[in-house]
Amino acid sequence: MGATLRVLGSRGNSVCIRCGTFKAEFQAKCPNCSFTPETDAEIAQSRVLGPLYSFALGEDGGTVDTGRADAELQAISFQIRSGKPYEFPSEELAGVLAVYQAVQKDSPRQVWLTMAPLFIGALVVLGGLGYLIYAWPK
Ligand SMILES: [Zn+2]
Repeated sequence: MGATLRVLGSRGNSVCIRCGTFKAEFQAKCPNCSFTPETDAEIAQSRVLGPLYSFALGEDGGTVDTGRADAELQAISFQIRSGKPYEFPSEELAGVLAVYQAVQKDSPRQVWLTMAPLFIGALVVLGGLGYLIYAWPK
């Protein structure tokens, strides 16, 4: 899943969902309107207007295909710049959102796994201490 996070943040042409300006990375601050995608929905929308990619999702081998080819991004950029907001396919958007939320959910678990030996160590020490106190001859 760590790989998914890197891919979700992959560099390549992306279009600002607000003003249609091209930027190098979909989560980056727009050089034109200063818009930075922050909510899950904004980040998912921004990823749709980024490089083509097929994300693996879940354990049943399902994939979420998203992103736009460069020529398509050019057209979308032009459309947004001329004042017409891009209509995101709701199914695709929901898929990207699911990938993004799965990636986010995964990170704390990674941290927890790294921390676990420390916690177990502390529990063993505490348990040993408890046993000593319990078994102390009266
Ligand atoms: Zn912008």
